Amino acid sequence: MMKSLNQIGKILLSENEILNRVQELGRQIGDDYKDQELLIICVLKGAVIFVSDLLRNIDMPVELDFIQISSYGNETESSGEINVIQNFNTGIRDRNVLVVDDILDSGLTLEYLIKNIQSKSPKSLKVCVLLNKNKAREANIKADYVGFHIPDEFVIGYGLDYAEKYRGLRSIVALPKNFILDVQCDSKFL
Ligand code: IMP
Ligand code: MG
Repeated sequence: MMKSLNQIGKILLSENEILNRVQELGRQIGDDYKDQELLIICVLKGAVIFVSDLLRNIDMPVELDFIQISSYGNETESSGEINVIQNFNTGIRDRNVLVVDDILDSGLTLEYLIKNIQSKSPKSLKVCVLLNKNKAREANIKADYVGFHIPDEFVIGYGLDYAEKYRGLRSIVALPKNFILDVQCDSKFL
């Protein structure tokens, strides 16, 4: 019989924990950019659910654009190679830019993106990630806003995928090292 997801992984962050923290982050960002303009660049695809909730918790008019980047060679290990699949097209010279990403893992994606944006002379540039994996990383990257610090495990849900699946889970689930590829997804509410 096929195992279900909650037999395999453990819930690291519940739906409520995530939403409460995203609300706090939104308030903090709203306070920090008070009376200024702000452009958010969301890194697809993993940050799409995070940015939707975040945006609705920032109490000011915010502009939104997207960049789609892929860096994963296989399902769980970064290849170190960055591919821009679709670039943002908003001009960013003299803008306050906040990059929103799902997770800071190796840091290679954000290192690339920060270099790229910095070269276009924004007024300011900050980084917000939902998750920060506690690990030594080659890239010297620190996020200005972090939702949660988590152990160095592979996680799925709330936008994060395993082989393009499970982004719709409402909680964030940690998978053990040798997990099974295709598990039954209990429900969208896990
Ligand atoms: P980087 O290794 O910091 O460049 O992260 C690159 C991208 O890999 C992130 O934006 C995520 O989309 C993805 N990623 C890293 N760690 C995980 C994970 O634990 N689960 C799912 N996706 C991950
Ligand atoms: Mg991914």
